[in-house]
Amino acid sequence: MPDDEITAELTSEDLATAEEPPREICRVAFAAKTDLGCVRENNEDKFDWWEPDAPDVLARRGRLYAVADGMGGHAAGQIASEIALKELGATYFAPGRASARDALARAFVAANRRVFEIATTVPSRAGMGCTMVALALRGTEAIIAWAGDSRAYRIRDGRAERLTEDHSWVMDQVRAGVLTQEEAERSAYRNVITRSIGTEAAMRPDVVTTRVGAGEDLVLCSDGLTGPLSEPDIADVVSSHTPSFACGELIARANAAGGPDNITVAILRILEVEAADDGGDDPPVNGEVREKPRKRGLFRRG
Ligand code: MN
Repeated sequence: MPDDEITAELTSEDLATAEEPPREICRVAFAAKTDLGCVRENNEDKFDWWEPDAPDVLARRGRLYAVADGMGGHAAGQIASEIALKELGATYFAPGRASARDALARAFVAANRRVFEIATTVPSRAGMGCTMVALALRGTEAIIAWAGDSRAYRIRDGRAERLTEDHSWVMDQVRAGVLTQEEAERSAYRNVITRSIGTEAAMRPDVVTTRVGAGEDLVLCSDGLTGPLSEPDIADVVSSHTPSFACGELIARANAAGGPDNITVAILRILEVEAADDGGDDPPVNGEVREKPRKRGLFRRG
């Protein structure tokens, strides 16, 4: 059979080389909470997470965590958040040889297409959409994708590092040198979003990748957290508590500051990084974390 007949049947995804399984894996603790806030009548925020059991899926795609913040009246926003997250998870973990990074970008594109389709065909859902931030942790690589002003932070040594850049009108002004970061945070237009899921037929997320290490916290949140609370406050709370307690404390503080919006926060703590194949007599199973005997070299927070 001539070569061209073979390649003609293959998509670019089939031709792509599957990624090497990660050499290191993270042991993590995860917690998340969402809250109505003090003003809104519906909670249009939503979070979800996926921690696959199957070692091959864990090696190929890792774990996925996401926060969505819906918009659109008459409860449509919460539908948008829910549909977007469902489509995100289903697409990201679908079989295929695409890299994890490409799969995450495609999952955002698919989520956008699905929400847009419903928003434009179902009258009661017209105009619905959401912002979304997602973090895939594969080995020690964190892949972060987002659309809108839901954010991801890395918290390390008590300091917050913003990993995402808001798709918002005020951030465009900051980039253009028209507003300072401080002016942007106080601006009456800070809620104007320039990219989101479900409001345009075509949308591409921004995607960044970073290596993570033991002792770091990765935080995903909606603007209902970052509006009322400063980044140093968020870093301080996350650094001094367990993820579960910190989620509750952050929400309590955002509410104490007026709770003007729905509040969602998810915290992924990297407890320990270890070789993927240190399982002694166990067959080497890349990416597996739960069932291998391991020493308890827990990271202790200072
Ligand atoms: Mn919000």
